[in-house]
Amino acid sequence: MTDQTTLQRLTLAYVIAAETHSGQRRKGSDVTPYINHPAEVARLVSEHGTPDEVIAAVLHDTVEDGDVTLGDIRRDFGETVADIVEALTNPPDWEGLSRAEMKDRQAEHMADATLPVKRVKIADQTSNVRDFFRNPGAWDEAAAREYIDGAERVVDACRGTDALLEHLFDHAVAEARKANGLTAPRSGENA
Ligand code: ZN
Repeated sequence: MTDQTTLQRLTLAYVIAAETHSGQRRKGSDVTPYINHPAEVARLVSEHGTPDEVIAAVLHDTVEDGDVTLGDIRRDFGETVADIVEALTNPPDWEGLSRAEMKDRQAEHMADATLPVKRVKIADQTSNVRDFFRNPGAWDEAAAREYIDGAERVVDACRGTDALLEHLFDHAVAEARKANGLTAPRSGENA
């Protein structure tokens, strides 16, 4: 990978993500190809992120949702990208946790994460929460509330990283709650 340009690395990342997620659709939609999600996350990260952060954003779900390994990513994209993707991949022993428990683990995990990891995570949560106003009614009220509140706990653990992305996340949360008829939790309720 030593002589590859940034554009070549980014292009390879998109090819790997597109192949890995081919046939997958976004939750809450029968039609939206999964690749739209990492593409959106990468675009958000590209506002202030480094090339390695953007590449990691493209690849961020390929290990968790596909058969790509962290070793593959390390070999093709180097240590920095692999470390970011690793920090964004739920450990296998989290499988079986409820969505709320999963979000609590992610929030704990993000509190100690590096700035690049936090930046991609905020963008990831923003893209996920936007699905709740792009596809209102795709989730029942309790599931929408649980997911959006959980995403907020995860992003709260990342605050102070990227003011623009944090603002875009807050905006997405407000729109998602409005589209699904939800009110914000009373402060401290999720503490
Ligand atoms: Zn994601």
